[in-house]
Amino acid sequence: MIAAQLLAYYFTELKDDQVKKIDKYLYAMRLSDETLIDIMTRFRKEMKNGLSRDFNPTATVKMLPTFVRSIPDGSEKGDFIALDLGGSSFRILRVQVNHEKNQNVHMESEVYDTPENIVHGSGSQLFDHVAECLGDFMEKRKIKDKKLPVGFTFSFPCQQSKIDEAILITWTKRFKASGVEGADVVKLLNKAIKKRGDYDANIVAVVNDTVGTMMTCGYDDQHCEVGLIIGTGTNACYMEELRHIDLVEGDEGRMCINTEWGAFGDDGSLEDIRTEFDREIDRGSLNPGKQLYSRRFHKTLRRLVPDSDVRFLLSESGSGKGAAMVTAVAYRLAEQHRQIEETLAHFHLTKDMLLEVKKRMRAEMELGLRKQTHNNAVVKMLPSFVRRTPDGTENGDFLALDLGGTNFRVLLVKIRSGKKRTVEMHNKIYAIPIEIMQGTGEELFDHIVSCISDFLDYMGIKGPRMPLGFTFSFPCQQTSLDAGILITWTKGFKATDCVGHDVVTLLRDAIKRREEFDLDVVAVVNDTVGTMMTCAYEEPTCEVGLIVGTGSNACYMEEMKNVEMVEGDQGQMCINMEWGAFGDNGCLDDIRTHYDRLVDEYSLNAGKQRYEKMISGMYLGEIVRNILIDFTKKGFLFRGQISETLKTRGIFETKFLSQIESDRLALLQVRAILQQLGLNSTCDDSILVKTVCGVVSRRAAQLCGAGMAAVVDKIRENRGLDRLNVTVGVDGTLYKLHPHFSRIMHQTVKELSPKCNVSFLLSEDGSGKGAALITAVGVRLRTEASS
Ligand code: ADP
Ligand code: MG
Repeated sequence: MIAAQLLAYYFTELKDDQVKKIDKYLYAMRLSDETLIDIMTRFRKEMKNGLSRDFNPTATVKMLPTFVRSIPDGSEKGDFIALDLGGSSFRILRVQVNHEKNQNVHMESEVYDTPENIVHGSGSQLFDHVAECLGDFMEKRKIKDKKLPVGFTFSFPCQQSKIDEAILITWTKRFKASGVEGADVVKLLNKAIKKRGDYDANIVAVVNDTVGTMMTCGYDDQHCEVGLIIGTGTNACYMEELRHIDLVEGDEGRMCINTEWGAFGDDGSLEDIRTEFDREIDRGSLNPGKQLYSRRFHKTLRRLVPDSDVRFLLSESGSGKGAAMVTAVAYRLAEQHRQIEETLAHFHLTKDMLLEVKKRMRAEMELGLRKQTHNNAVVKMLPSFVRRTPDGTENGDFLALDLGGTNFRVLLVKIRSGKKRTVEMHNKIYAIPIEIMQGTGEELFDHIVSCISDFLDYMGIKGPRMPLGFTFSFPCQQTSLDAGILITWTKGFKATDCVGHDVVTLLRDAIKRREEFDLDVVAVVNDTVGTMMTCAYEEPTCEVGLIVGTGSNACYMEEMKNVEMVEGDQGQMCINMEWGAFGDNGCLDDIRTHYDRLVDEYSLNAGKQRYEKMISGMYLGEIVRNILIDFTKKGFLFRGQISETLKTRGIFETKFLSQIESDRLALLQVRAILQQLGLNSTCDDSILVKTVCGVVSRRAAQLCGAGMAAVVDKIRENRGLDRLNVTVGVDGTLYKLHPHFSRIMHQTVKELSPKCNVSFLLSEDGSGKGAALITAVGVRLRTEASS
């Protein structure tokens, strides 16, 4: 009690003659700073106990969760009713909040009697009375037909499990109506209103007056995160981190805690200082006040916690306006929550939907493989002319080019067969300026050859005509291992005069133009195939390749009899699916969202690679950014302010999804990341941003998994197996670095193709090593054929 009373004391304006007397007395009785700090320490311990699951039952300071998760952000608006029961009078208020007109709050209120016989009667009498007064209030204002949201300030200790429920623990003050303790007061009030039947009410929130006070001030000052009542009794509330609140689910964000600190010391922990002050308090008259004593309170506080900058704001009719404010916030949040859920629900894919995606992928695969349907098929199922995975006999020195990823690289790969197989690689990264990526084909290939020239000099190997494998990660129609006609550019490329041409010829021509060295271009290789080959070199069950990097694609070993585009029925061939184009015929349009369409519209290849655009690194950040813009426009984020940053295309890179979604990251760090991006976020903002990232990356992983399920099940069926064991070689930074993508993808594959045991193997530099392995196989086959 004493600490509370001490505070109450400081907030009390005493009659003049008493001031001197008590001042003198107080001086003598003044608690030293050491004592105050000691009390502070004891109080902190009590708070901690109250918050912890184990100690709460015996804690004196109950630390009740209020389920108020957010202070007003100034965007609240609407017409609300507030009931204020439990103070010195029973009041009903109508509060109109209009945020357009500079945070204008209009209030009208009326005080109603609560006669002794009702306060001490039965619970139903009490709530009938409340309902009757509310009816009268609405009748007078002709708003009985409006069903306005109602906030209920009920200033008694209550157990809450949600914001619109409050189970009375015990009556305090002069109230004693029977049958209410242990019951939900919202239910009781609703029942009383229903019984009347002349109006309807939507009780949105129940709050304590402390919370109301904090919320009222919070509307005017965003920094107000503590509420303090010093009147008839005393109590305080504050915004606590959810992770410290054992009794409420969830770790992220904050919740207002009603400390019920009046009970501090009830266990005798303040006995040592109690008596003197108790006497002192008994002498003083307690009038609600400010000035002299509040100043002292502020001073004491500043002295005790010198590193905090604490400001005090007097609340105006906190319990009434506060209830309306809480209602406004609760109403805003509920409405926001509903709209956010509704939007994000479009990204939620049920198992049935994913099975449907798998089925459609399978159908598109068939269309691509068949001669009759191939031309119009969107999933092209391109033959790679790679007919088997490596067997370990590959040997020699090879050059490899890797074009189509983030970096253009030239590599020297030395493969040694025998007992101790080794692969040694040297590579150099070269930039491809955007004006060359999107310039003419000749410029692009001249640039490539000049990079090769530099590399040969750098390695000191310019001279002998070396075999080269060209990893070219774009869809190509191949007619042999060393011929590939570019079907279309994807990702960031758009050089002219290439589509429809054989890229090996374009490369050979550029080498000729340079007249400096010669190379034996043996194979054109897709990076998926390279990835599969690299993993297969280590793990013979690897018969599938998958890329989830800038773009997304997959390949697998198909039976030749199913590959109608290539003569012959014997053996197998690796098929470069080019699955990124899945959906380009509209078959995924029921799953694509408004945001997918926006990202697509502004991409270099609108309408194309629709599946890839829902999965891969080049696009996920953009999807998130578009959702964030929309949410900001609707006022759910960043206080409705769309910053220049947020408007900048590409600013929200997919690597930020990885960072933000990391489990190890505290909310504060998420805020720091957003800060780096130039996005000033509140706690609530960062929670929402994280949610959005999670929803987008989860869908990506699930869609990718659904595609993969189609592939492995096809392989299983091709071979007439009840069970298939297969390994997928995977490459791509998104897959490798995102904290959840791979797990969700694996899980999805497992669920959608239960008859397959699928392992995933990370590929190390598939596009370099894989191209060399394919080149090695190609050289060997050529020698075999000519002898
Ligand atoms: P590529 O697919 O171009 O060969 P990568 O596999 O390295 O190359 O993928 C690069 C893409 O990965 C980038 O475009 C980017 O979108 C994405 N990315 C980069 N860093 C991360 C990360 N930390 N988490 C998720 N994605 C990332
Ligand atoms: Mg790559």
